[in-house]
Amino acid sequence: MSQQQGSGQPWHAVPIEQAFAAFQTSRNGLTGGDVEARLKVYGPNQLPTTAPHPAYIRFLNQFNNVLIYVLLTAAVVTAILGHWLDCSVILGVTLINAVIGFIQEGRAERALDAIRNLVSPQASLLRDNRRVDVPAVEIVPGDIVILQPGDRVAADLRLFRTKGLFIEEALLTGESVPVEKNVTSASPDAALGDRGCMAYSGTLVTQGSGAGIVVATGRQTEIGRIGALIQRVGTITTPLLRQMTRFGHVLTAGILALAAVTFLAGYYLYQFAADEMFLAAVGLAVAAIPEGLPAIITITMAIGVERMAGRHAIIRRLPAVETLGSVTVICSDKTGTFTRNEMCVCDIATAKRDYKVTGTGYAPHGDIEAGGKTILGQDGDYLTQLLRAAVLCNDASLQQNDDGDWWITGDPMEAALLTLALKSGIARSDLEKQWPRSDEIPFDTGHRFMATLNHSHEGEAAIFVKGAPERVLRMCDRQAASQLIEPLDTDHWYRKISTMTANGERVLALAMRVVDTETRDLTFGDVEGGLVFLGLFGLEDPPREEAVEAIKRCHAAGIRVKMITGDHAETAKAIAGQLGLVNSTTALSGSDLETMTGPDLAQAASEVDVFARTSPEQKLRLVEALQSNGEIVAMTGDGVNDAPALKRADVGIAMGKKGTEAAKEAARIVLADDNFASIAHAVEEGRVVYDNLKKAILYILPTSAGEAMTIALAVALGLTLPITPVQILWVNMVTTVTLSLALAFEGAESNIMGRPPRPAKAPLLSAFLFWRTCFVSVILVAGVFGIYVYLLEEGSPVELARTAAVNTLVLFEIFYLFNIRRQHSAAVHDLFTRAALPAWISVATVLALQAVYTYLPAMNLLFGTHPMGAGLWGICALIAGSIFLIIEIEKGLFNLRPPARPQDRRT
Ligand code: ATP
Repeated sequence: MSQQQGSGQPWHAVPIEQAFAAFQTSRNGLTGGDVEARLKVYGPNQLPTTAPHPAYIRFLNQFNNVLIYVLLTAAVVTAILGHWLDCSVILGVTLINAVIGFIQEGRAERALDAIRNLVSPQASLLRDNRRVDVPAVEIVPGDIVILQPGDRVAADLRLFRTKGLFIEEALLTGESVPVEKNVTSASPDAALGDRGCMAYSGTLVTQGSGAGIVVATGRQTEIGRIGALIQRVGTITTPLLRQMTRFGHVLTAGILALAAVTFLAGYYLYQFAADEMFLAAVGLAVAAIPEGLPAIITITMAIGVERMAGRHAIIRRLPAVETLGSVTVICSDKTGTFTRNEMCVCDIATAKRDYKVTGTGYAPHGDIEAGGKTILGQDGDYLTQLLRAAVLCNDASLQQNDDGDWWITGDPMEAALLTLALKSGIARSDLEKQWPRSDEIPFDTGHRFMATLNHSHEGEAAIFVKGAPERVLRMCDRQAASQLIEPLDTDHWYRKISTMTANGERVLALAMRVVDTETRDLTFGDVEGGLVFLGLFGLEDPPREEAVEAIKRCHAAGIRVKMITGDHAETAKAIAGQLGLVNSTTALSGSDLETMTGPDLAQAASEVDVFARTSPEQKLRLVEALQSNGEIVAMTGDGVNDAPALKRADVGIAMGKKGTEAAKEAARIVLADDNFASIAHAVEEGRVVYDNLKKAILYILPTSAGEAMTIALAVALGLTLPITPVQILWVNMVTTVTLSLALAFEGAESNIMGRPPRPAKAPLLSAFLFWRTCFVSVILVAGVFGIYVYLLEEGSPVELARTAAVNTLVLFEIFYLFNIRRQHSAAVHDLFTRAALPAWISVATVLALQAVYTYLPAMNLLFGTHPMGAGLWGICALIAGSIFLIIEIEKGLFNLRPPARPQDRRT
């Protein structure tokens, strides 16, 4: 069997039975043994990824930046001037910079690649006549793939069943309007877009359902053959990074200009030698340019992404990391996100009798009771009929494993109906044999019901409908009452619905209609009217405890939480109350939203927290309305139609488990566990990342500026340089980078979820940063210059004075690191706890490096350093320690003005 064609004909031209025969498969799918054998022959179903650039290119790329050009030019000029030592140190340092950049970039890329694997696509298959969800890479030719709206087709399929199936094939044909699919073979020379009976790998199911045989996998698929490659996760860039790069360019230009002025001033005003002045100018440039900053920003982001993945939020698009920290509203659906999605039927209502159901979970242990008595067997025809409909109009499956545990596949609510039926002795397998399904209308959040057409062996045929109660009631004009069929008593049913929903139960209605045996197809017209209402099920789906906690934390963090659900308004309100949403007493329904526009909608969107019976289009309108109020919106979604709302939201969040591929692709974040608490954690991590970025900038810029000012001052005063250019390089490239790396690993500050969201437009390069840069650089200059001049006055050799100046500078950086670690509390707050470990590790490393720098003879030669005595170290440490106190006092003064409490602002 070939992956391209059957008996000389392409697959789209062969009759379906021939395809089944060619692949030795059937409508029930392959068996486990077949799959393994085929996987060996055909290999995994995946396309080659774009090869990453070879390592040497990535290494050379590290030299492609303005700073390195400046350094390399300096190296050439120093060589021409015969300063070989300076030249080799500059070259050595550029090399170190490239190596550090190379390693960090590799690490960040690996983090993203690992995350990409976490969201690998899944496909629904039939194997051994069982529906299973498997990773798309494990699909083999001959497998039977089931298609649903929102699926990315995982391999090339020859379709044998379609139901209103529409597929968007833009990827292959360029045509963005979805095409309707069918099962009839096309002519052998039909163009790709005209092969109606094929579904091609990589295309998107937009509507309907279908099934097909896999005829090609991996490279053999159409998309594989045109040489398409899986897009690797894009390079690490975000608006913030771009802003920083631009800022870096402006800064570099400014610094070069300043260096030129220094050179000219020294040469013409003070008549310094040209080569000496050139070295001073190079030193100034090297000092002022914050070399380590881009690397630190990248690594902080990468660590944030990893941490979020550890807390079940998988970042698909990096800008989300930044945006998360400024989210002001989280809109989440209810089922499975706020609730556990472990359903259990607890109430049944029929026309004449109500029942209570005991037992929890999916194990069929428990009873059906009415009027305080256990109902044995099946209570009269109406309960039997109701349960039969619930089992037949159902796609879930319920199984017991060898340990006796019950597990489900498919929709948990449907599985709960199977459990209920088993409690009264009705097994799906038996019933399905008696009443095989001939056709179906799958469930869709748009129409909120599911219908099946079944034919019994006794020659009967019936349509069974299950769905949202008000929707099903509209289809019915009669109701089943024991043996009788009587006119529909709508009031009776609405009373029952409101009792169930008020308890927070999810309500499902069942109806049926007997049809002519000849009927083979089921259309929307068939369920429009004339059905017989059978009864209602009330299902319990308790809120997740961790969601209650997470909502509290969000409220404390000034983030409003809203529920946007497809469920009934009363159920939604009851659950919202149990969850503790701010306003759980009012709910707006999708139809209410339809009538609202502009300012009304914007006002409702901000005041109301519960939106029920909403459609995906209304979700989009809500996102837009909230954004028009200036909110930064995180929105969850799972269906194919949710994609526009997910794209429009500031942070679109797709459900990893129940979400469709279309939703996952549109989202910036995928939740691995579908749990609301994970969203709150992601927001928290987003705030941590932003804090850490801010800290890195607040750390590196002032220290760079301090060094630059030291040199500028020396030139202005006509003094020899307290720190030579190569020494500055050492400090910037070795010590500052090592110390600031600790900031990337910093955990959350204690009040991280106790402050209001950061205004989205707040500039990172703020007035405060400007102030801090000036303030810290003045302190650094005073200290470094002070010790240098003092030692020279004392008659110490210039090498010793310079070594002391550099060590004082490094010690300043060490003390300042502890100031910076905590922006919102005192530095001593957790100085000796585990939280400060990364900082202590960096400090220990830097002290060891400084010892090498000061005492190793080779370093003395290279950097012109001189060993220092313990007393001098003590003096340097005392001078440097002053910054710790001064900045703590400054922090205290700034923190005296607390920001507005989040509660005042929002709730
Ligand atoms: P959320 O949007 O919070 O996940 P939801 O699951 O209730 O809530 P939808 O999936 O849009 O939202 O379902 C809307 C309604 O459709 C449900 O309240 C239920 O009455 C009905 N329904 C849901 N699933 C099915 C199904 N598989 N078969 C028939 N009806 C269903």
